[in-house]
Amino acid sequence: MERTLIILKPCSVVRGITGGIISRFEKKGLKIVALKMYRFTKEKCAEHYSHLVDKPFYPIIEKSMMAAPSILMCLEGVDAVEVVRQMTGSTNGRKALPGTLRGDYCMSHQENVVHTSDSVENARIELDRFFSEEDYFEYDTPLSDFLYASDEL
Ligand code: ADP
Repeated sequence: MERTLIILKPCSVVRGITGGIISRFEKKGLKIVALKMYRFTKEKCAEHYSHLVDKPFYPIIEKSMMAAPSILMCLEGVDAVEVVRQMTGSTNGRKALPGTLRGDYCMSHQENVVHTSDSVENARIELDRFFSEEDYFEYDTPLSDFLYASDEL
């Protein structure tokens, strides 16, 4: 099973659309194994978006990510990183395809509702950035035989 990080950005929290987004992941069959509310600091934002700190639009990212709390989630599933990335859609919400989260929930390049890990390696790094061992929950999912065939697990 793979794990991936989802950040429901402040724009999602303030707009009151986090329930709808979480519901899409649940319906897909991804398992929530950690979830918490979190307020970004300048330092954490610079660490998380270190690949963008030199871009002219970085101050907009910082302001947006610190504007209100975010909701952080770890989702688990077979190929979870790629599945969630497909569900996310293109970075610019105006170009994201309908049916994707960004395509259905936003009109902005920046205020684009979610961050999702873009590779298995980055997912590990990003989960360690925000969660510690005691944040994760283990529980049975009795319907897993109906979510996956036996040779997929
Ligand atoms: P993604 O979130 O799709 O993985 P990136 O890692 O490239 O995309 O960018 C991180 C975040 O920075 C984006 O989700 C978006 O909020 C913001 N961003 C990226 N590029 C731009 C841009 N050209 N203008 C404004 N915001 C941007």
